[in-house]
Formats: sequence, C-alpha cells, structure tokens
Amino acid sequence: MFSVWERSELLSADIVVVGGGILGLWSALECCRRYPQRRIVVLERAVLPWGASTRNVGFATIGTVGEALAHAQQVGEERVAALMVERWLGLRRWRQEFGEPALGYEPVGGYELVLAGEETVRAAVERWNELLREALGEDVFRDSPELARQWGFSEEHVYSVIVNPYDGALNTGKAIAVLQQRVLQHGAVLWSGAPVEAVEPTVGKVSVACWDAAAKRLLEIRAGVVAICTNAWIPQLVPHMGYIRPARGQVLLTAPVARQPFPRGTYHFRAGYYYFRWVGQRLLLGGGRQQAMQEEETYEFALNSSLQSHLQDLLQTFLLPAEEVVIEQRWCGIMGMSPDRLPRVEHVGERMVVGFGCNGMGLALAPRLASQVAALVGEWMN
Ligand SMILES: Cc1cc2nc3c(=O)[nH]c(=O)nc-3n(C[C@H](O)[C@H](O)[C@H](O)COP(=O)(O)OP(=O)(O)OC[C@H]3O[C@@H](n4cnc5c(N)ncnc54)[C@H](O)[C@@H]3O)c2cc1C
Repeated sequence: MFSVWERSELLSADIVVVGGGILGLWSALECCRRYPQRRIVVLERAVLPWGASTRNVGFATIGTVGEALAHAQQVGEERVAALMVERWLGLRRWRQEFGEPALGYEPVGGYELVLAGEETVRAAVERWNELLREALGEDVFRDSPELARQWGFSEEHVYSVIVNPYDGALNTGKAIAVLQQRVLQHGAVLWSGAPVEAVEPTVGKVSVACWDAAAKRLLEIRAGVVAICTNAWIPQLVPHMGYIRPARGQVLLTAPVARQPFPRGTYHFRAGYYYFRWVGQRLLLGGGRQQAMQEEETYEFALNSSLQSHLQDLLQTFLLPAEEVVIEQRWCGIMGMSPDRLPRVEHVGERMVVGFGCNGMGLALAPRLASQVAALVGEWMN
C-alpha cells in the first residue's frame, strides 16, 4: 500500500546507487557533479555501511614493492604500475576534495619491512622506481636497512625497510563522514537500512526492489540507471560476477603503549598481507589472511580466534617484544576479491553499471573508479 506521493515522487530516481561504502558514495558524488538536475538515491542495506569501508585501517597507500612484485606475477608489471599511479591520483583526489584536516590525514610515509628470505623485494626497488618515475616525477621507494637496526629489529628477522614518502594514514571514520555529508550537500538522498533484493530492467527503466524492514514491505523504486557498488556482495545482484569472492580481514588494536620503538607511518610486510600503524598511542595490527584463506573467504562478520591469536603473538614477539601488550579492541571487515585483483567498472545489462575496486585497496582507488562509474551511468541518461 503506497500513497500517490510516495509512488509519484519518492519511489523513483534518475540514478540509484546500490551500496553506501566508499565507492558507492564517491560514485554518487561524481554523478551529482556531472548530472546536477537529476534525482540521485543511494541505497545502503545497513545503518552504518556494512562491508569494508568503515572497518579498514586507513592506509592511504599506493602499495608496496613486495605487493607489486606478487601482483605483477599474475597480471604483468605494466598493469600493476598503472594501478599504483591510479592509487596515487585517487589519494590526491581525496585530499583535494576535502583537505587533509577533514580526513584526519597524516603524511607519515609508508614503510615495508623486508623479512628474511625476501631478497627479491629489495632487489626490485630500482625496477619499481623506474616503472613509476615518469608518472610521479621522482623515485618513490628507498631501501633503508639502517632503519631496521635503528628501530631495534634484529638482522635475522628484518633485512631492511623500504621507505615510501608518498603514503599516509587517514581516519577512516572522518573520511566516510565527510564523504556522506558532501553527497548530501550535492542533493543526493541517502537511504540506510535499505537492502536491495533484486534489480531488473523493465521498459526504459530499471526496477529496484528494496526491503523496508520497519514497514515490512518491499519497495519498488523505478530508476533511470542503477550503479551497483556492493563490493563482495555484487554476485547477489549480478550472478555472472560470481568470480568476486568475499575476503574477511582481521584487525586488533592495543591499549596505549608507553614506548614506541618505530615512528608513525603505514607499515606492511609479507607482500602487504600484514599491516600496522599507530593510532594515537595505540598500535593497530591487521591481516594474516594468507594463514587461513579458505576460512576467511566468508560473508560472516566474526572474529577468527586462531588468526586473532596469531596477530597477538606477532605483536608480542615481533613488533613490541619489550612491552606488556594489552588488546583493547578487535574487529573484522569483509572485502571483495577478484582473481586477478584488478578493479572492474562495466555495463552489466541494460541501464545497469557495476563498480568494483576493492581488492584491499579501495580507499585509494575509489575516487577515480567512481568517475568511471559516473561516465558509464551517463551513457544511459537521456
Ligand atoms: C580489515 C580491512 C582493512 C583494510 N585496509 C585498507 C586500507 O588501509 N587502505 C585501503 O585502501 N583499503 C583498505 N581496505 C579495503 C577498503 O576498505 C575497501 O577497498 C573499500 O572500503 C571498498 O569500498 P566499497 O565501497 O567498494 O565496498 P564496501 O565498503 O564493502 O561497501 C559495499 C556496501 O554495499 C552494501 N551492500 C551490500 N549489499 C547490498 C544490498 N543488496 N543492498 C544495499 N546495500 C548493500 C554494504 O552494506 C556495504 O556498505 C581494507 C579492508 C578491510 C576489510
């Protein structure tokens, strides 16, 4: 049962964006800018976005040499280098749009710990500088073994540290909050608690079925174009994209630590599978998914106790051996992974576009992918 006003005004939109994570919000913002007279509605299934965007660790990173080497084995150096440049441009876009203070951005630099047995990573520094030099104008990575000793890591465990001054850290909560505000300022509508159950093309429109739990009714929104930005959950609405798989990431945060042996920065090791940073006086550590790949390929938001213990052991024995570490908070988030770890922005049917870019690096990629989403959306506008 709907009123005439609901049907005529509220349950229709020129553009519907499904998914209120970073990519959905950036896509809505880009659509607002390009198509200012259009009614744009973002549908997010949860009250707070319920995927990766509010649960990530805020690394504003173009990537590491170790991660690039591993990825290049799959898709080739040129594609990985191009992705790193996209990440750099995407991070610049965040800062231009909102300014560093609003994002809680800290230009702290990135550090990759090169562990025993990873000589190839050190040896590849020059090659990746060469691949990025033209776009970034100078060398990005610097091999600095002296830092490992300065910070108290033994030579037996940490060979070297690769420094990357382009990386920084941001406050994920602030970033999402300012992005939501900006989308609203531009006139789009954000509906939270609005899970989309199906998206079907009809004549000249798309029918978007969205469940309203409070009213216990299914809403049918008639949209001119739909942009699906639901990341790991894309296959629920676009079954032929079943190759996107969920990948859960585990994180823990210590209580304040009195002595901080290494400076503020974004830290990675083991090809980006582990990451840590200071959040105020607390140390955040996440990752280790490669230890339990199958278990972590799940849609269940739950802590993995053995992975959490593994992270805690690492913290105590490797990162902060001189401290009595207390864990204050633990959480997880769910990413979407494609087999080649490359983003996808494409038409997936009449008046339907998909934006997918996660693969663990969506923060940096979202603004540029969003602009591609908006361009494809425009192809269906008349
Ligand atoms: C632990 C962890 C750490 C990370 N750290 C970093 C980092 O430091 N730097 C970095 O760049 N990236 C990081 N990432 C990855 C980054 O968070 C993601 O790449 C990014 O958030 C992806 O944004 P998204 O909008 O594509 O997806 P999501 O954030 O997953 O958003 C998808 C949204 O769609 C909604 N949705 C799903 N289905 C429906 C439906 N049917 N109807 C309506 N809404 C729906 C979900 O609720 C969700 O809010 C991390 C991820 C995790 C999990």
